[in-house]
Amino acid sequence: MAYLTLRKINKIYPNGFHAVHNFDLEIEKGEFVVFVGPSGCGKSTTLRMIAGLEDISDGEFLINGVRANEKGPREREVAMVFQSYALYPNMSVYDNIAFGLTLQGVDEDVIEQRVMKTAKILGLTDYLDRMPRALSGGQRQRVAIGRAIIRKVGVFLMDEPLSNLDAKQRVTMRYEIAQIHRETGATTIYVTHDQTEAMTLADRIVVMKDGYVQQIGTPYELYYKPANVFVAGFIGEPPMNFVRGKVENGAVMFGDVRLDLSHKLKDAAAWEGKPIVFGFRPEAVKLGEQDGSYVVSSMVELTEMLGDNTNVYVNVADAQAILKVDSHDTPEMNEPLTFSIPYDAVYLFDGETEMVITEE
Ligand code: ATP
Repeated sequence: MAYLTLRKINKIYPNGFHAVHNFDLEIEKGEFVVFVGPSGCGKSTTLRMIAGLEDISDGEFLINGVRANEKGPREREVAMVFQSYALYPNMSVYDNIAFGLTLQGVDEDVIEQRVMKTAKILGLTDYLDRMPRALSGGQRQRVAIGRAIIRKVGVFLMDEPLSNLDAKQRVTMRYEIAQIHRETGATTIYVTHDQTEAMTLADRIVVMKDGYVQQIGTPYELYYKPANVFVAGFIGEPPMNFVRGKVENGAVMFGDVRLDLSHKLKDAAAWEGKPIVFGFRPEAVKLGEQDGSYVVSSMVELTEMLGDNTNVYVNVADAQAILKVDSHDTPEMNEPLTFSIPYDAVYLFDGETEMVITEE
């Protein structure tokens, strides 16, 4: 039996706004699940319904198979870490971490033991006497996480916990959160709009848009088997290139290049006259002319050297694309560039429904 079950969960706010539609998900004990999507897609709302901080308008939420819709946050045995940290400014790091246990009236010796252990996991041992204002953003975030993990609850809920940190701190904290998960084995639901965080932390990712779940899968599945144009464009950096057009004479035009769909579709004729989306990832292209590929002649407009690779912005008769190449192969700007898109690296989507077209 799944540990947490969300069955056709809906949220309609009092003003009538339908923020979450028929959210279905089963979470196993110990899983690390990430909700990801652009701002306003309903990920925080869903997390808050799981936490018991927001009513569920319709649908059922079960913990260990038992309906929990009516249970308060404490009864649900969840601990939440907020984006804003929500530390008590007048309490030391020690007291902030200990707070939940103090409230529960846990024995002081036990509290001390657990605070010391938690502080050790989080690298906060030397900061226990400090007040929150004398900590860096990353340290404050660790205290907020410490306050959650010390309670040994069944589920950790994290709402954009790294969004107030700078890029370097985020990478460090990301690693630490993964470590904490490995050490505690606690079921974790983590909300972010950052696809890199989602890909690196998650066992499974739920991609949301406009209140609807778009796809649920492992990072690998989302990258290699996106269900629709939205997921294909959301996962991956730089995003997948899309060529949109009507199928004419079995092909779509990418600038002045004819992309013959018979290489990808057995029934290309069935798509004649219909809109289609042809997708390929920047990192999937090969430079030069390769067999088993669409060969494209382009002009280089701009290059961005990023270290081990370079983003190359190309123009194909007024159509644009981004290619990601090894930085040793960085081409000259304003020069012609031929590249190849291997047939097996191409994704096709229905131009109307935007759903992937799967080949039988
Ligand atoms: P963000 O990353 O910006 O926090 P999100 O995906 O977490 O976005 P939610 O906070 O879940 O999004 O909000 C989902 C939608 O519900 C948004 O359009 C938001 O404006 C709306 N919403 C949130 N709270 C309320 C409320 N109390 N009343 C009405 N609408 C709300």
